[in-house]
Amino acid sequence: MSGWNYSIFWKEAKNQFKTELNEQEFTMWFNMEYHSSSESSIILSVPSSFYRDQIKQRYQSKIENKLQELSGQPLNIEFIVKPRVKEEMQDQERAGDSETPYAAAPVLAENRITYPARQAIREKTTEKQNHPMLRADYTFNHFVVGENSSFAYNAAMAISKNPGISYNPCLIYGGVGLGKTHLIQAVGNYIHAVSDKKIIYTTAENFTNEFIQALQDKTTKDFKNKYRSADILLIDDIHFLQKKVETQEELFHTFNALYDANKQMIFTCDRPLSEIKNMSERLCSRFERGLNVDLQPPSYETRCAILNKKAEHKSVSIPQEVIELIALNIASNVRDLEACLTKLIAYSELVNKSVTLDVARQQLRDTFNSPKDISISIEMIQKVVSNYFNISYQDMKGKKRTRAIAFPRQIAMYIAREITEYSTTELGMEFGGRDHTTVMHACQKIDERLKSDSTLEPMLRTLIHKIKEYEK
Ligand code: ADP
Ligand code: MG
Repeated sequence: MSGWNYSIFWKEAKNQFKTELNEQEFTMWFNMEYHSSSESSIILSVPSSFYRDQIKQRYQSKIENKLQELSGQPLNIEFIVKPRVKEEMQDQERAGDSETPYAAAPVLAENRITYPARQAIREKTTEKQNHPMLRADYTFNHFVVGENSSFAYNAAMAISKNPGISYNPCLIYGGVGLGKTHLIQAVGNYIHAVSDKKIIYTTAENFTNEFIQALQDKTTKDFKNKYRSADILLIDDIHFLQKKVETQEELFHTFNALYDANKQMIFTCDRPLSEIKNMSERLCSRFERGLNVDLQPPSYETRCAILNKKAEHKSVSIPQEVIELIALNIASNVRDLEACLTKLIAYSELVNKSVTLDVARQQLRDTFNSPKDISISIEMIQKVVSNYFNISYQDMKGKKRTRAIAFPRQIAMYIAREITEYSTTELGMEFGGRDHTTVMHACQKIDERLKSDSTLEPMLRTLIHKIKEYEK
């Protein structure tokens, strides 16, 4: 045995995953045990090679990121296979939910993997993995349809069954947290499960960054080939393309190539096209060509239904009165509904109390009293901070690392970490696709500076105040 022992980091990482993942997913996949440590790795024992391969694919990078976050140094994970008595895994058997057979984790029943999925689909796609660009839980099955979303849902479903034929292109628009990304990815997951079509999902921001990189590296040919070889192209958040003249031009040509070849395209946008400014007319006319559907905020009843479904997926029972309390208080954003539920579940697990109406009132008081806080977007923070320091919003998210820009960026990251619920990974993405360690580093820097620079704290307070006022 070596002298290294990182078991404590593993233990804490596992605890954190327990609160972050739904219970079924956690029980299914975190069936790993600490085995030993070496200088820069933790060795875990897993019950089968099937398990090991699945874990590697699904969780290895997430686990390693978390371990780095906890220990402050890079730690790899390695596996040894140690079959446990009576726990045979049937390697061939795969599972999922009835709509998208590879979307959900298999269900463990009496130590066997069982699957309720349809035979035909199962046989056709026995070896299929989750699509690397799509979130496995963004499926039609996990989406609650209300009167606010039935048009968009039905359109997405129809497209999934007949891609490239009936509604091409399709534009789904609606406010933040209303399920645009979930729906567009559900189409991807569905088609991925039943066919071998080449599906590309990306955000408009990522598309832009990739294009800029390709220009720099003189690899635009590869870039064009990549996007023009898609059978299904899903581009999220096209409002980001406003003012990005060259990227719009590029997308216009990609669009034409795919459209002529009857390849399906779906786009999402946070507002109707008529409210989009600084977008070339000919590109807008392309988006308008197919079907435009909107997602509205859910009604009270639908909000209750969504909360019930989320609770069910997390395998926790929440009293109806608590569901109603949340649904009454959070009206405009499904992500926020979910955040309330997650908070209550975490609380009840940590203090080992069941979720009663009193507990919910007390735990969610701040959230309900300052509904603005929970809806603060990273973009708002970035804009207010850029403004304050007189730098451009583009630079805030861009690559430049001069002090005049890096410092405001660190401040914005720090504030975002303080006043929003976003994880460091999500924040990194929003700050020009940076790694989560960059965000952690920024927060550390500001924390350190707070100790020595007495002007910093009042400045942060002023900025936070401005951000909170921003929306009013
Ligand atoms: P948007 O892209 O419109 O900002 P997302 O698709 O990211 O919103 O949705 C935010 C969160 O809310 C996600 O976790 C998503 O699964 C969930 N969500 C949104 N609408 C629904 C719905 N109708 N049923 C179930 N979950 C939903
Ligand atoms: Mg989205």
